Amino acid sequence: MVEGPGEVYVCNNCVELCQNIFKQERRRVSSISAQLSEIPSPREIVEFMNQYVIGQQVAKRSLGVAVHNHYKRLMHHESENADNIELDKSNILLIGPTGSGKTLLAKTMARMLKVPFAIGDATTLTEAGYVGEDVENLLLKLLQAADFDVEAAQRGIIYIDEIDKIGKTSGNVSITRDVSGEGVQQSLLKMLEGTISNVPPQGGRKHPEQQYIQFDTTNILFICGGSFVGLTDIVRRRLGQTRIGFGGVATDASDTKGRQHFATEDLETEWLQSQISNVDVVEYGVIPELVGRLPVITPLMPLTHDALVQILTEPKNALVKQFQYLFSLEGAELSFTEDALLAIAEKAGKRATGARALRAVMEDTMLDLMYHLPDKDNEGAQYVIDAAHIEHPRNLEDLRIAKAHTA
Ligand code: ADP
Repeated sequence: MVEGPGEVYVCNNCVELCQNIFKQERRRVSSISAQLSEIPSPREIVEFMNQYVIGQQVAKRSLGVAVHNHYKRLMHHESENADNIELDKSNILLIGPTGSGKTLLAKTMARMLKVPFAIGDATTLTEAGYVGEDVENLLLKLLQAADFDVEAAQRGIIYIDEIDKIGKTSGNVSITRDVSGEGVQQSLLKMLEGTISNVPPQGGRKHPEQQYIQFDTTNILFICGGSFVGLTDIVRRRLGQTRIGFGGVATDASDTKGRQHFATEDLETEWLQSQISNVDVVEYGVIPELVGRLPVITPLMPLTHDALVQILTEPKNALVKQFQYLFSLEGAELSFTEDALLAIAEKAGKRATGARALRAVMEDTMLDLMYHLPDKDNEGAQYVIDAAHIEHPRNLEDLRIAKAHTA
């Protein structure tokens, strides 16, 4: 309760509610053009993302351009030229192995967006009427992100993760309906195309007596992401490539049949990844109409060991920086040798979950140290983690180095 003069009290809920009303009103008064007065250029968007995401330049560029054009399209809608020329949106499909930064890209972008942004997951969705969530729940998330300001939400951006998990179950011998595959794709299609959706404000299943919020999805930018495991095999088949062994032959050389040779499997995967086109995605089990609504297909590359080392040290929230900070809170200094970082990257690489494994390996390495650290006398202590420690963890005492003599 907030106490005012003369025995007046306002509870925290009412304060929050009023604040929201003020916020919405302020937004309504200022037009979109004013709100978007300084739209960041694609380059600025990419530079911002560089602070958090390592590599994946192609994906960053497409996202930068897409977001920039999204703002322009919104402004165009309000302008006098709106009748002369129509700007279509270019929804994006991000395809890359797990842990290569798809969700991270979306989340990082959300930090700098001037429009509401929501992240949803396609795996939970089912066709209307079945156990699971309706696709409208994605729109509800956007509404929540916009404090239920429908106008603002209708200009937002939605990221749909795991879009590959709603592939058509081709070769499905079951006689039951494919309610979480093609059915969902059909509903998504309508949403991506632009439709007036009825969104249940409380979420959950729709039922006839419910009040709905009318929601126009025409101006929403959709970004979809998925790992599409096995898609490269489809690409390889389409291109008439056969697995012809690696090594020996120089990279990028092609033989008489036009087949490419690669020195390593990683190089081949990278090449195939860059060759993905919409026909492959259709073959994978996404209906052509939906692929047609995602005109920009952007591949993300598998992360190399060097990239993993960079991820450990460079982003603003890099793991190494985090642990160094935790040590500094105890008055100790922590450092990693180059070999140690590479060893962590190699160990994480073996787990085949991309950069996600880095955290797990790092926690394994650091757990024992973090357990004992607060009990030690750490004033001015320096600890160095080397490659040997990554293989066989040792004690804090063994990692501590004698303090350098200072004058
Ligand atoms: P997915 O591609 O499966 O969506 P995520 O984006 O969720 O993968 O990545 C998982 C974690 O791995 C992130 O939270 C981030 O810490 C790390 N990561 C993945 N890719 C990168 C990258 N390119 N740069 C920096 N960190 C990354």
